[in-house]
Amino acid sequence: VEIDLDLTTFGGSALTSGLEVPKDRDLASAAADALDIPITYVPARNTIFLSVALGWAEVVEAQEIVIGVNALDYSGYPDCRPEFIAAFERLASLATRAGVKGRPFRVHAPLIHLTKAEIISLGASLGLDYALTHSCYDPLPDGRPCERCDSCGLRAKGFADAGIADPLLQQDDAARR
Ligand SMILES: [Zn+2]
Repeated sequence: VEIDLDLTTFGGSALTSGLEVPKDRDLASAAADALDIPITYVPARNTIFLSVALGWAEVVEAQEIVIGVNALDYSGYPDCRPEFIAAFERLASLATRAGVKGRPFRVHAPLIHLTKAEIISLGASLGLDYALTHSCYDPLPDGRPCERCDSCGLRAKGFADAGIADPLLQQDDAARR
């Protein structure tokens, strides 16, 4: 299923409203800001995503739910932490007919303890074409990454640490030539 879930209806974040996405920060100041949850935090986003997944899982009688949150190189978002995943897993089994009828749900977050570099290496080893992905909080009008937001910065550092060139940026360089 594909669900159109437009969080700009709520707003409340630089990613879902007209608020300015911070640009050109060094990653150390971004990390310091993370102590004080940044403006790019989207209210209850992963709770909303997991709730939608849970509804679908119960309908198709699935018990395993997978989400790609990351607790290491994240930006201080409370809903990327292992304790959030564990709490949602408890909620999923309490809140559903399947759960109370003895079919509990498991929530898997296989990337949660990996660094960005480890995630990039893992994807590359599985043959993932990163040219089809981007990480940008505020893409340019043509869809290319801004290369100036915290998320672009973390992606660039992850590729650098993994010793892999980001094929998305190489593609852009080639297109500009
Ligand atoms: Zn960006």
